[in-house]
Amino acid sequence: MIEETPGEAAVGSVFDPESPEATYVLEPELVAPLVARVASSQGAGTHRSTCPFTGAPLATIPVSSPSDVATAVERGRLAQRIWARTDLAVRSRVLDNLARIVLVRQSEALDLIQLETGKARRSAFEEVGDVAQVARHYAVRSRRYLATDRPAGMIPLVTGVRVQRRPVGVVGAIAPWNYPLTLVLSEALPALVAGNAVVVKPDPQTTLTALWAAEVLEEAGLPAGLFQVVAGGRETGEALVDVADHVAFTGSTAVGRKVAARAGERLVGATLELGGKNAIYIADDVDVDTALPGVVRACFASTGQLCLSAERIVVHEAVADEFVAKLVRDVRNLRLGAGLDYTADVGSLTSDAQLAKVTAHVDDAIARGAVVLAGGVHRSDIGPYFYAPTVLDDVPSDALVAREETFGPVVSVTRVRSDDEAVAVMNDSEYGLHMSVWSGDTARARKVADQIEAGSVSINDGYMLTWGSVGAPTGGWKASGLGRRHGRSSVEAMTQTRTVVTARGAGRGLGIDAVFALEGAAPSRILSAALEGMRRLRIP
Ligand code: NAD
Repeated sequence: MIEETPGEAAVGSVFDPESPEATYVLEPELVAPLVARVASSQGAGTHRSTCPFTGAPLATIPVSSPSDVATAVERGRLAQRIWARTDLAVRSRVLDNLARIVLVRQSEALDLIQLETGKARRSAFEEVGDVAQVARHYAVRSRRYLATDRPAGMIPLVTGVRVQRRPVGVVGAIAPWNYPLTLVLSEALPALVAGNAVVVKPDPQTTLTALWAAEVLEEAGLPAGLFQVVAGGRETGEALVDVADHVAFTGSTAVGRKVAARAGERLVGATLELGGKNAIYIADDVDVDTALPGVVRACFASTGQLCLSAERIVVHEAVADEFVAKLVRDVRNLRLGAGLDYTADVGSLTSDAQLAKVTAHVDDAIARGAVVLAGGVHRSDIGPYFYAPTVLDDVPSDALVAREETFGPVVSVTRVRSDDEAVAVMNDSEYGLHMSVWSGDTARARKVADQIEAGSVSINDGYMLTWGSVGAPTGGWKASGLGRRHGRSSVEAMTQTRTVVTARGAGRGLGIDAVFALEGAAPSRILSAALEGMRRLRIP
């Protein structure tokens, strides 16, 4: 194991009493109005979140009981009836306003995200930027996504078909703690613009950020009752699944299966964005120095607690020695820190449970013969849940870190001899969320991408350009999810279609009844001739 020198790479030590940031305490006048927004009758107890930078208490949040959740959904349903009839231009304007406000008020969001998750500020900014991007996209594109479709009817010209999109009602969004602003709003914004109300259940650790989202949506002009936050853990989530008209769940595969089963019992839709064991392939024609910054970010942004994070690097043996040496150098140079500023590259893990999982995975790999090339140590000198960015080599395929999602700053390296072998290694996983391929030859990289079993593949980028291309669907194959997020997919998931078919020629003797008024086999003969004619004319 390689020893890190404590403090050497650290910035913004949380123990510095001279720094006003070092308290990591939220002012009561900031917390109180946020907490007042929780949809709770205050009878179900409280939850106390802690600041990952210090382990000290951050906020006490009232939990929402199942009846609070039902009341919030009823309130949403009432507000939604008016909202669904509100002009689309007005609904879109709220999103357009939000896209601006979230940038103007970004410092507040960045502080909250950092204090609740422990991530570095540059990773927190990804969330702010993402919300601005998603909000603008749906503000501009919602008219197209929600437009009435007019496919060809059964009998050309005399059958008029209109497919309308109508909101499902109240969308229940259940979110994890790792991207507390992005994952709440990337479900809520397409739902809202489509005319739904949204009730959000954030993770208990990151409720304040979700409440801040409610505050800025109100400032953007969203009427009351359309975006509500219920607080609590599993029971609150289950209560929401029991009453929502559609469930948009982001979280672990294990819980996703339970949520899907519960929603299935009620025959309401559920979109599931779940875990991954994402891999990066470095081909032998790569320019290592150009690739490295993006590769390092793909592994360690948000302390590796990102659903699209790479936890496996598959490298062609021809460049492996150079690549691995430079990777280890760059990973050791990453600056860990807890500052509410841009001095750190990598922040803290979010909780004790996360630290325990990461430590268990690394220890298991070492016990099975893996070699630690960088990191592999708990950095308690910086804060209670800090863990050094870690690179492992010689990881046996049955190690936990090779198969299960670690969800931390740990990546393992595997050497391959060809693109085909790389594809086989990358696809050897129960998950299929996101992969990336790095090559000097785009055509070659696309050929590799075409064989990958995942909902998205980035070429010469880790994840950001794929996630940020919000007009395109993202989601998981295999155990990584069901349904898709972004672009048209989100709107389609959170609306239902109503097909209205008009018999245009009925009054003029041109309808289907005129054919069936004929005797004996005549209707069959006419329809057979018509069907054969339509086939020849390739009428759809
Ligand atoms: P988790 O599944 O434990 O919790 C997610 C949310 O579900 C939390 O709000 C939690 O309170 C709630 N919940 C827990 N049990 C529930 C139940 N029985 N019914 C309803 N709600 C319930 O997930 P986590 O460990 O907090 O988050 C990390 C996981 O999320 C990782 O696996 C990560 O890959 C995944 N994730 C996926 C994406 C994606 O887009 N695919 C994005 C971010 C995170």
